[in-house]
Amino acid sequence: MPRFLHLLVAALTALVPAAGTGGVTVFDDAHPGVRHLDPDLLHALREAATAAGIAFRVNSGRRSPEHQERLFRDAVRRYGSKEEAARWVATATTSRHVTGDAVDLAPASWLSEHGAAYGLCQIYRNEPWHYELRPAAVDHGCPPMYADPTEDPRMR
Ligand SMILES: [Zn+2]
Repeated sequence: MPRFLHLLVAALTALVPAAGTGGVTVFDDAHPGVRHLDPDLLHALREAATAAGIAFRVNSGRRSPEHQERLFRDAVRRYGSKEEAARWVATATTSRHVTGDAVDLAPASWLSEHGAAYGLCQIYRNEPWHYELRPAAVDHGCPPMYADPTEDPRMR
């Protein structure tokens, strides 16, 4: 890995908080939502970020079950029913964020094009920011996306 890329990523990582975005990046070990991600997922994210020269902002990483339950309750209120809410937010027992196996990132455009080479795949068509690790994608590309989480058998 060329040294200038490491330096660029370090510079970007340093700049993001200074820009006042309140951003947490994939390199931010101090943040529990990053620190408690699955180690293989976190490793892939850092490899991709280094290659891209983009310190991806983590809008949401690992979540506690309580946090996830709160998000689901909020979604039920917003969308009017559990069925509709389930298209957007998983429950504490089904969410891959609770197990540390999912991350919501920005910007996701680089990953949508190059993520498969790192095993990083978009899973749901309606969530272009949500990525999970699919190691087989390195050789075979990402699997077809679900339209939304209700099509995902893991969510049942
Ligand atoms: Zn997500």
